[in-house]
Amino acid sequence: MSPMAPNSVSSDYPPHLTPERLEYLISNLKDWSIAHGLAVRPAPSFVSPENDPSGVLANSAPVTLFPSLFPKSCFEEALAIQSTYNELYCAIANDEEWLGSVVQELLDIDDFVAQLWDVHIKIKNEGYVQNLSLGLFRSDYMVHTNPEDPNAGSEVKQVEFNTIASSFGGLSSQVSALHRHLLSIGAYPPETSSLLNDDTLPESKSAVSLAAGLAAAHKAYGPSKSSNPTCVLFVVQDPERNVFDQRHLEYALHSHDKVQVFRLPFGQILKDTELANDRTLLYVPPFAPDTRYEVTTIYFRAGYSPDEYKSEEYWTARYHLERSAAIKCPSILTHLAGCKKVQQVLATPHSPHLSKFLSDESKASRVLKTFAPIYPLDESEAGKEAQKLANNPDSASRYVLKPQREGGGNNVYRKAIPPFLKDLPKSKWPAYILMEMIEPPPLTNTILRNGEIQKGGVICELGVYGVCLWEANGGEGGQNKILENFEAGYLLRTKGDQSEEGGVAAGFGSVDSCCLV
Ligand code: ADP
Ligand code: MG
Ligand code: MG
Repeated sequence: MSPMAPNSVSSDYPPHLTPERLEYLISNLKDWSIAHGLAVRPAPSFVSPENDPSGVLANSAPVTLFPSLFPKSCFEEALAIQSTYNELYCAIANDEEWLGSVVQELLDIDDFVAQLWDVHIKIKNEGYVQNLSLGLFRSDYMVHTNPEDPNAGSEVKQVEFNTIASSFGGLSSQVSALHRHLLSIGAYPPETSSLLNDDTLPESKSAVSLAAGLAAAHKAYGPSKSSNPTCVLFVVQDPERNVFDQRHLEYALHSHDKVQVFRLPFGQILKDTELANDRTLLYVPPFAPDTRYEVTTIYFRAGYSPDEYKSEEYWTARYHLERSAAIKCPSILTHLAGCKKVQQVLATPHSPHLSKFLSDESKASRVLKTFAPIYPLDESEAGKEAQKLANNPDSASRYVLKPQREGGGNNVYRKAIPPFLKDLPKSKWPAYILMEMIEPPPLTNTILRNGEIQKGGVICELGVYGVCLWEANGGEGGQNKILENFEAGYLLRTKGDQSEEGGVAAGFGSVDSCCLV
């Protein structure tokens, strides 16, 4: 029954379930999930396309049976600093000179970053026609307890900051609602009531909050310039298994002022959109080719990974959207602000960077506390130290090596680092950063994935969503003017403790919610 390692730490949580209670819990969980769109399209390995030729089947998303225990103080701190993180990344995305100096080191060795930068430079030279920018961010954390001093308390340490296609905001609202539903129908044993109750299970408002961010951008765009009706475009992958996560945002946005949303596969951009002379972006729906919609906002749920750019045409398409008058979520500069290299530069000890972007010292110091040690792998002093750590199997086992990539499955972990570097030309090493592994306290839970129950030790990763809408140089003295800035709900992802990667979509993890302790 259990492909995950049994947890060595004895724990009363989650509680033991009688077979009858387990059956009650699972049957409710399965049906509630499908009834509420806590679902994904099946993996081809699970249901072959021949068995579902019309693509009508859906699976319940991998979820935990119980909410995972999470320290309340850590949860509250992570949510409380989100608006500061929004402010920080908005400031970075607006400081083209600073961002340029950070990506400079990557341009010769990371083709993807170089191509993105190139698109920005081309448009900068001709002039941008939209200075509003939208970020739907997600800052990811793990709980860190000092192994030398477990009584010192727990803190959250940031895994990474996502600026493009931050996913699961739709499903995370549903999973927190699922766990509250299971509680309210008595699926959890009565002896857990002091732990599991309405006060300890926080709802996640991510779906409506992220949709509110899109709605704010749609409104801030102003009236149609082309006298066509307006719309928001979701640029998506095709096929997309995580479609319901995105649909939840679409439906929330649609019910808000009836904003019209269209899904546009990344490969169809040049076919289905036009730029007017003033660079107004028009969407031509294939189902009604004589009509035009003026696009106010482009929400990228695709385009973050180099393998999506299958030919030069895909780069032309990204350029075409970026130079348009639509508000981009994210713009190229905001996308690049999410590079792991930026995170590493910010985390450099005693560096002036953080205070440059966050002039309020108390805000900067709260953000600083969430940084784990991260090193460059270049020829700087710190880089040479990091090279030594990464090449020694003993020290490397405390680190993860990350390239400038998104979407999971790209990192190299622990003892695999030295042999990986041995095969990589040294000139390419600076394309990576070396990060200390965060070692969260051991926990236990049960995951239901594709009908299979997996029980054992787990690792949880908290994501906090943030919405930021700003106008570059729109404030006094050419400062950035922030129009919207708010925390937008949370996500908990939980994986078996034998897996280094946590991606739900990549098949490693599950969606979860918090039980605050
Ligand atoms: P991506 O942008 O591809 O999601 P991440 O930096 O989030 O890249 O790394 C992917 C996964 O690897 C994370 O979800 C987490 O499970 C694990 N991971 C990354 N960095 C660390 C770290 N410093 N400590 C522990 N686990 C980590
Ligand atoms: Mg990421
Ligand atoms: Mg991640």
